[in-house]
Amino acid sequence: MNILAIGAHPDDVEGFCGGTLAKYAAQGHKVFTASTTNGNIGSATLPKDVIARIRKEESRQAAAVIGAEYICLDYDDELFFETREARIALIDLVRYCKADVIFTHNPRDYNPDHELTSKMVNDIAVMIPIAKIETRNPPCDKIPLLFYFEPAHAIGFVPTDYVDITEYMDIKHEMNSKHVSQIQWIKDNYKDQVGDRDRNVFDDIDVIARFRGLQCGCDYAEAFVTAQHAYRMTAKRILP
Ligand SMILES: [Zn+2]
Repeated sequence: MNILAIGAHPDDVEGFCGGTLAKYAAQGHKVFTASTTNGNIGSATLPKDVIARIRKEESRQAAAVIGAEYICLDYDDELFFETREARIALIDLVRYCKADVIFTHNPRDYNPDHELTSKMVNDIAVMIPIAKIETRNPPCDKIPLLFYFEPAHAIGFVPTDYVDITEYMDIKHEMNSKHVSQIQWIKDNYKDQVGDRDRNVFDDIDVIARFRGLQCGCDYAEAFVTAQHAYRMTAKRILP
């Protein structure tokens, strides 16, 4: 299968579903990662074009850890809106990847780019095979299956599906570690939320994966909600 994870920001998908992507890749599936925005507000000191370039390169390196390809739709960070152009760009992205399975943000999350990316990915899924919707890449022959990841910090989330990622935690951490520019940014910008203790994004990822592992009977897991369209329901398990 072809697997596509679409986040809003360059460092989103590794944290939310990096273990699952690594597992898919290890099983021989083709994996793509993508972000709708280029992350160009993610630095207190660097100009927007410079931090965008750095973050796209970090995402490319994170994807390369599992042999995946990263694609950026290049919208401005925190200024992603529902436009005709953005809808076409998302349809074209899915067609380019010939995605069988898509992962994206939870419809309820703390950030407007996350929520809108989620909504738009859900909206366009049924449009992928429609020939009269013209994009650079040709239509695919099927509607992809869609899964939502957890919202940030797993607040208010009840999973429908789990993936055991115990053997892939090291790879998930390695993917996340490529986002060097964001490790300090998150510490600085979200200081009020994380408090004074020396916590970083890797600790948070560990806590949530351990918690989900506890729920499904393994050491570490990632959790999702199925957002399958009525057009392509399947009783078969698609998750690795
Ligand atoms: Zn984000």
